[in-house]
Amino acid sequence: MLPNMADTPELLDLAGIGAGPFNLSIAALAADRLPTLSTRFFDRQQRYAWHEGMMLPDTHLQTGFLKDLVTGIDPTSRWSFLNYLVQHRRFYRFLNAELSTVSRAEFSDYLRWAAEGLDNVWLNHSVREIDHDGEHFCLRTDTRTFRARHLCLGSGKTPWLPTFACEYQGERCLHAESIAWHARDFTNQRVVIVGGGQSGADIFINALRGHWGPPKSLHWLSRRRNFQPLDETAFTNEYFTPGYTSQFAELDERVRHREVSAQKYASDGITPAALTEIYQTLYHRFDVMNEPRWAHLLPHREAVNMTRTGDAFVLEARHGTTDLLERFDADVVIFATGFESRLPECMAPLADRISRDEQGAPSVGRHFLLDWQGDGDSRIYAVNAGRTRYGIAEPQLSLMAWRSAVILNHLSGQAHFDLDDDPGPVTWSPQGRESS
Ligand SMILES: Cc1cc2nc3c(=O)[nH]c(=O)nc-3n(C[C@H](O)[C@H](O)[C@H](O)COP(=O)(O)OP(=O)(O)OC[C@H]3O[C@@H](n4cnc5c(N)ncnc54)[C@H](O)[C@@H]3O)c2cc1C
Repeated sequence: MLPNMADTPELLDLAGIGAGPFNLSIAALAADRLPTLSTRFFDRQQRYAWHEGMMLPDTHLQTGFLKDLVTGIDPTSRWSFLNYLVQHRRFYRFLNAELSTVSRAEFSDYLRWAAEGLDNVWLNHSVREIDHDGEHFCLRTDTRTFRARHLCLGSGKTPWLPTFACEYQGERCLHAESIAWHARDFTNQRVVIVGGGQSGADIFINALRGHWGPPKSLHWLSRRRNFQPLDETAFTNEYFTPGYTSQFAELDERVRHREVSAQKYASDGITPAALTEIYQTLYHRFDVMNEPRWAHLLPHREAVNMTRTGDAFVLEARHGTTDLLERFDADVVIFATGFESRLPECMAPLADRISRDEQGAPSVGRHFLLDWQGDGDSRIYAVNAGRTRYGIAEPQLSLMAWRSAVILNHLSGQAHFDLDDDPGPVTWSPQGRESS
């Protein structure tokens, strides 16, 4: 008897888990240039947005708008940011506005336009479980099942909170990533922000301006020695090129770890524009207008413990140069403490077959492939998971189009995209012979 075709789940060449910018970039390049490949990218969001929980007023990209979904690899693609502007009839006004950086709101709208326009992106589809039947991956969403030859994990990173804070997580002890989910009122509250990166800066400036009402006090703690700027200078930006990234991936593991830590502020600092804005606002309010100084910047403080007293919290921090412990009374504590790589929950049935690095995150190898004990040629690609393999550009938007092209060339076994890059001004690899 013939099998009932209606019961056989659709077979895809590539199934993407998540359609954040990184998988969306793969979707856009595949749709245009590899139409015979059956690809589908599932995202659980009903109405597409980019980090909606951090969508605060006056926040901007740290990256130039030409580093969009496709332009770095295919500037003729219709999914470019420039085409988005033209389609929305604001190309000339965008130019006249002379924006040095695009707002996150506009970039999110660009991504939504692409996600809603691409046939191979299915929104409102949460991937619940993925297993392997010996031949193909089997994916279960809320409503359907699919089979796939290969996977690309693009479900993003998970917010990270210090362990001591986890038990207090809620309305008044929260991670930065959820701050904009709903309206908040900090009027007359003692607010403490922990974390000296861009998210901490975005929250501090908004709190200072009274976005959530005027607080009674505002303390911003950073473990860093100072409120460190993002290094956006030319030679540092060489780290965000295909040539640098390719040679980096070949280095010894120990060396890669060392280099990534040394390059921290090329990707994790605060934009100089935001630092100037904060300084000027503080100067105007507290030095010129003589407001009582209710906002305090506290670098070189590592938050080490937290307790609750009634409705309030006491946060303890260790001072970096004196080792002294300081205590901060707070009604609201916001942790802008970053994100960690984790295998998405839907991968639980396959979790034991995936190799991990020392931090327990899946190890990413060449061509952005996970190392797993799989059956046959079923491959698992992963984006935004290989910072110690590919360097500091990996979690950034800068090289997403290039990475998508690497993955699609590898997946299809053909050089659909030209990945050759001319050597730049800097010679990163040794030219001579090894010394004896
Ligand atoms: C606030 C903020 C601002 C940033 N700004 C910049 C910047 O200016 N420049 C820069 O270079 N980098 C920036 N980054 C870093 C990085 O570029 C972004 O985090 C980027 O969004 C990462 O893309 P992604 O596709 O890996 O993940 P995400 O954008 O996190 O997207 C993951 C997607 O997967 C979906 N998903 C998760 N699980 C499932 C599931 N089981 N089923 C279906 N869908 C699922 C989610 O709904 C989500 O849409 C920023 C990061 C943050 C947090």
